[in-house]
Order: sequence, then C-alpha cells, then structure tokens
Amino acid sequence: MQSQQARQNTGQAKLNPLVILLLALLLWLPGAVQAAFWPREDRVPGGIAIIEIPQRSESAPHVFFNDRRVYTARHDGRWYAWVGIPLSQSPGLVAALWRTRDGDVPLAFEVNHKDYPEQRLNVEPRHVDLSPEDLARVRRETPELRGAMDIFRPAQEQLPSEVTLPLEGRRTSPFGFRRVFNDQPRNPHNGLDIAAPQGTPIVAALPGRIVAQNHYFFNGKTVVIDHGQGMTSMYCHMHAFADLKVGDRVEAGQVIGQIGTTGRSTGPHLHWTMSLNGARVDPDLFLPAP
Ligand SMILES: [Zn+2]
Repeated sequence: MQSQQARQNTGQAKLNPLVILLLALLLWLPGAVQAAFWPREDRVPGGIAIIEIPQRSESAPHVFFNDRRVYTARHDGRWYAWVGIPLSQSPGLVAALWRTRDGDVPLAFEVNHKDYPEQRLNVEPRHVDLSPEDLARVRRETPELRGAMDIFRPAQEQLPSEVTLPLEGRRTSPFGFRRVFNDQPRNPHNGLDIAAPQGTPIVAALPGRIVAQNHYFFNGKTVVIDHGQGMTSMYCHMHAFADLKVGDRVEAGQVIGQIGTTGRSTGPHLHWTMSLNGARVDPDLFLPAP
C-alpha cells in the first residue's frame, strides 16, 4: 500500500513539468484564439436585444421569445441570449422567457420605436398583381422558405471571429424600408441589398448547412443556410448556384452562387437576410460598426 502511494507520488513529481507546460499553454491560448463574433445590439423592431441569462452551468440555457427558441452564446463564463426582434413587433415592454426547473423566468426589456423610411419601386406588373398560377406557386413556396429560415437545430457551430460580408458592392436598399411596389404597399424590406455586376460570386456569411436551394417566385434563385440555434441567412436573386445542394456544409467565405436578377428584382443585386428565432433582423448588426 505504502509503496504504491510512493510510486504515485513519484509519478506526480515526474508529471509536474508537464502540468506547468499545460498551464502555460492554457494561459497563452486565450490570446492566440480569437473570440467568436458578437452582434451589435439595437432594441428596435428588426433589431437584436442581447440579454444576460443568470445561468451558471455549462449547459446552454433554454430561452424563448414569441414561443420560439432563442440563440444563446457564452462569453467570459456568462450566458447571453441574442433575441431577434421582428419588424412587426410593437414598441414597449416585452419579455423573453428563461425556462428553469422552477418554471419560466421573464427577462423583460424595452423595444424602442424606429421610423423606417418608405421606398417606392417599379417592378414587372406580374410580380405585383399575381396570376392565379403565380399565387398558387407563392402559396406553395412561402411555407418552404419560412420552414428553412425558422429552423432550430440545437447544435452550436464554431463561429469565426467575424461575419464575412457576402458581397462587396454598392448598397442599394437598406434593411427595414416600408415597401411600395407599383403604388401598392407590400411587406417591409427584410434584408440588405448589395448591387454588383451579374456573375459576381456571393459567399456564405458564416459556416453552416444549406437548408434550402430553389428558384422562388419573389426571391428568385435563393440559398438558405442554417448556422445552428435558430440563426439562419438567406441569399436571393442569384443568376446561378454553386455546385452545392441541400444538406451540404459550407464554410464562411465559401462561394454559394453568382449575382443575378431572378425573381422580383430591378437589377443584378444580392438580397441578404439574417434571421434569429424566426425574426428577420438587420444584417448590418452582424458586421463591425461602420
Ligand atoms: Zn432586397
């Protein structure tokens, strides 16, 4: 017994330089590995509320907003919820719900008013006054697209330190504008438009998995990528897709298609949408402050 203990002690003593080396490596690592990106907060319709969750355990907290599971991320040993606020949200006091063993705990926050400008556009009449066939097509396509955008996969992707801008180009239409097509009011603009010559490559903003790739009536040739935990991105009006299919994994910066003007579009451009917990939010909040 004694000799065994002595052997163990000797073993520990021999391990010490290795332990020191490991500790040194651990102290050095945080400086070497860049932290995952963090969106900017803007508590307005179409914005993001970042709320600390008082959960101390390693396991991800379960947070809900409007009955949808919310993205959670860890920073400095604390948990935060990235709550996507839909454009349709009325300003005022709202609450996300943190599900605990003792019941739901409300996490209240204020949604501030934001005045989005109006934008008037002229497009092909067939994209405003729909034929019965096109209306039937839109009714088929809408649930397919919503299903892809509103997906919740619990897996947490290893996020890079920055979101990749899917396309360098001229910004033609910002997020949130109230849209009037051929004098008829339509849904607000739920993405960011960037114009570039037809054929310019479009890249994935973040790593993830392709969950939709199809030619839709309004969105044209479109790719939807699931980044895990209810964070998704959508890329519309493409001229052509890359050689990828639904289910394929993509890395941030990987080419997913080419700029085009398919669907309801006034010229070659990318319509880029970001979504959190089923809410379309301003993609600019995912990019570094200008
Ligand atoms: Zn657009």
